[in-house]
Amino acid sequence: MRADTHVFDLIAKEEKRQRSGLELIASENFVSPHVLQAAGSVLTNKYAEGLPSKRYYGGCEVVDEIESLAIDRLCRLFGATWANVQPHSGAQANAAVMLAVLKPGDKILGFDLSHGGHLTHGSPANFSGKLYVPSFYGVEAETGTIDYNKVAETARKEKPKLLICGASAYSRDWDYKRFREIADEVGALLLADISHPAGLIAKGLLNDPLPHCHIVTTTTHKTLRGTRGGVIMLRNDIENPMGITDKKGNLRMLSSLLDSAVFPGTQGGPLEHIIAAKAVSFGEALNDDFAKYMVQVEKNADLMAHEFIKRGYKIISGGTDNHLMLIDLRAKNITGKDAEIALGKAEITVNKNMVPFDTQNPMVTSGIRIGTAAVTTRGLKDKDMLKVVDLIDRVITNSQNENILKEVRKEVNAMMSDLPLFV
Ligand SMILES: *Cc1c(COP(=O)(O)O)cnc(C)c1O
Repeated sequence: MRADTHVFDLIAKEEKRQRSGLELIASENFVSPHVLQAAGSVLTNKYAEGLPSKRYYGGCEVVDEIESLAIDRLCRLFGATWANVQPHSGAQANAAVMLAVLKPGDKILGFDLSHGGHLTHGSPANFSGKLYVPSFYGVEAETGTIDYNKVAETARKEKPKLLICGASAYSRDWDYKRFREIADEVGALLLADISHPAGLIAKGLLNDPLPHCHIVTTTTHKTLRGTRGGVIMLRNDIENPMGITDKKGNLRMLSSLLDSAVFPGTQGGPLEHIIAAKAVSFGEALNDDFAKYMVQVEKNADLMAHEFIKRGYKIISGGTDNHLMLIDLRAKNITGKDAEIALGKAEITVNKNMVPFDTQNPMVTSGIRIGTAAVTTRGLKDKDMLKVVDLIDRVITNSQNENILKEVRKEVNAMMSDLPLFV
């Protein structure tokens, strides 16, 4: 068989790009060679609709063991008692949750997308804002943080069926206990989407949502450092409060509704190669090495935030508790879009991002989002972070000067090219 040089040359080119640059996109990371191996395995050949030992296809004995292992490891990692590891992505996990607990037209309350929330928490461009009726809470202009009393006020006014906490660009920890009080007061179910900080939560570096939230979803590829994918977890399974019954008239458990909402509700056959890769990454995350990694991720972000502030940058909320920060560039007279382009020329990859109360549109934006999970995987530590901020600052203050951008790029390449993707 002849190799498909076209595709494999492009993969090699992408690998070189990943190696030579500084990856600061907060939602990205580099997986271990073992995760990569499982994701590229023969398991991609297998159909396995259904759940372990309850499949619609023959020949599932081995994938049953693999999927059960993934579930067991994930439950151990987060102290969950039930999990579904089949969602193909974070968006699919959230779609399944909403299908399980809502009817079209029901109200949901989530974190404002323009303040750092996620599309799947009610954006009008997304299924969640088309099938359900969304309202939003956000951060305060002065503090850049959530005022929980205002969340409660909005919840009392809107009476959502589902209250959602979690975000894609919020650098502070969440008070899940307070969110549960609000949910209980208005009779809502509470979903925590911990897609970004999941790894930090697993290692006890941030508040634990599982004791307080009815349902928890996460992606597996951000701080958790696994393959691209999603999962759904419960610590306390309950009879669904929506009154949905089985054929015998018994109230169905939340877990059973969630399983059905993943398959056949929103997906077909599970990706067993990806589930195997999830199992490998959950195994890695259970190790002490992963705790050390997470501590360094958090420390690296904190060091960067302080260094940016020292250089006159505005960090939303004035700092970070997790792996990311949102920078308002208006004081530096550059848009998020132009900053992203200039940094890109120096092989520093970030994403432009709306900041709270932004005056630009989403294609331009006034800010950038920066995260430390990926560069920490490559082995960067305290001193390196000060250097990284210096490189970014030089680009942002000289964004039109091609010579300086080239100079910075050479420094970036010198710093990164010899480091493996996964230390
Ligand atoms: C990244 C993210 C998702 C979506 O994950 P995909 O795998 O890209 O679908 C959902 N929710 C939050 C909060 C996220 O940050």
